Amino acid sequence: MVLDLFKSRRRARLRAKPVPKAWRAMLERNLPVFHRLTSEDQNELLSHVQVFVAEKHFEGAGGLTLTDEIKVTIAAQACLLLLHRETDYYPELTSIIVYPTSYISDEQRYLGGGLWEEGSEHRLGHTGERLGAIVLSWDDVRHGASEPHDGKNLVLHEFAHQLDFENRNADGTPVLQTSGDYRAWARVMSHEFEALRDALEAGDDTFLDDYGATNPAEFFAVITEAFFERPRALRRNHPALFMQLQRFYQQDPTSYSLEPVGAY
Ligand SMILES: [Zn+2]
Repeated sequence: MVLDLFKSRRRARLRAKPVPKAWRAMLERNLPVFHRLTSEDQNELLSHVQVFVAEKHFEGAGGLTLTDEIKVTIAAQACLLLLHRETDYYPELTSIIVYPTSYISDEQRYLGGGLWEEGSEHRLGHTGERLGAIVLSWDDVRHGASEPHDGKNLVLHEFAHQLDFENRNADGTPVLQTSGDYRAWARVMSHEFEALRDALEAGDDTFLDDYGATNPAEFFAVITEAFFERPRALRRNHPALFMQLQRFYQQDPTSYSLEPVGAY
């Protein structure tokens, strides 16, 4: 209790600190959706970035020298998932490890029909339950931010996993508010997840990335990317899914997304 009070006071002080001018410029350069947010949301996002950058331990790997630009570009995308919500700033996460480019790692990929493909792959990013860390490739962080409507965003993907871990299970369900919310979430998500698997097994084209069929945790990360980057298309193709995400994320990215109108 005392610790919580101490923590919330410290965070309130961090949020109230003047934002370095250079940070705003970095976001205007690296994060095209930033200038589309209302000024209220921009300020809220920047105040979250202040807390995030102060509390998380950033580490450069593979010869990468960390800069404020790297920290702020990662933090702002991570904090986009926290807007308008009560948040404890990814409490399971202590470190963010950043490589200059993609790195090699063992990977499993679900092919459908009970088949998995295994092998070494170039990884762009990774996080794991109880790992306390997120690993990211700076090239791919930058690329994901600069293409805001291709439905792919590494930082949103990995931080969606962190939100999923907050209920102690990597099961595709983050912490929701009421038991009714949990029931509605389970009903919609299990239906949509099975529908994606069935469509892939039938060889149909799907709006959602097939990586989402890997398991419910990847499904949540993939639909989070779609929600923020292709919200209009998601709303049209999967309205029930869109509603669940809108309720959870407490925002409607159709109001600021750069997704071209009529492109779906
Ligand atoms: Zn993932």
